[in-house]
Amino acid sequence: MMIARLKNIFNSTLHLFYPHVCTGCGSDLLEEDNLLCLRCINDLPDTNFANMPNNPVEKYFWGRLTLTAAYSQFYFSKEFLIQHLIHQLKYKGDTEIGFYLGELMGRSILQSDRFNSIHALIPLPLYADKERKRGYNQAAIICNGMSSVMNVPVLNGAVIRQHATETQTRKHRTERWENVKGSFKIVKENEVKNKHLLLVDDVVTTGATLEACGNIILQVPNVKLSIATLAYAAK
Ligand SMILES: [Zn+2]
Repeated sequence: MMIARLKNIFNSTLHLFYPHVCTGCGSDLLEEDNLLCLRCINDLPDTNFANMPNNPVEKYFWGRLTLTAAYSQFYFSKEFLIQHLIHQLKYKGDTEIGFYLGELMGRSILQSDRFNSIHALIPLPLYADKERKRGYNQAAIICNGMSSVMNVPVLNGAVIRQHATETQTRKHRTERWENVKGSFKIVKENEVKNKHLLLVDDVVTTGATLEACGNIILQVPNVKLSIATLAYAAK
């Protein structure tokens, strides 16, 4: 209790002396509504995939999912700030940075004519217990940022993820798909049908989870599906 209070005092004092610093490098920020300084923004490894038909993310899903368009905003690389920012979002409770990166994605999408018929965003669902533990779904936070720029709704809870699977790290891609494919379920078909949906996640790695969820969404009548992720880590 005492420690928490001291921590609070410490934080607000810190805030007094450093009212606005970059989440990336800690340098002072001039513009209050930014979370990153210009140098950090410019250092983010942009893919420019949003405007690129047949980009590596789309090719990655060829033969696996019928997509209208797909893209990732950044390359995921351990040397880059983006890895730190995603870590802050997923494990340190920094939802602000997730919303901010979502806004960046929304702007890229608006500048591209390949995503202009999107009706709604679907955050890749987490298992309920995992979301409860974390306090939020990081994909939903990204969606909120995107939604604020794109002016399309976020369909939270239209698709759910049902049960935990065993650890997937050492499995072959096809086995991984078998492992996750049964775990997604559409619960609000009316919100999903007859729409062009953008399925959103933080990082695409094997694509197995997005593929499993995408396949379920594509079973709903008259649906078109696109995918957007914050980062691309596929080999
Ligand atoms: Zn910076």
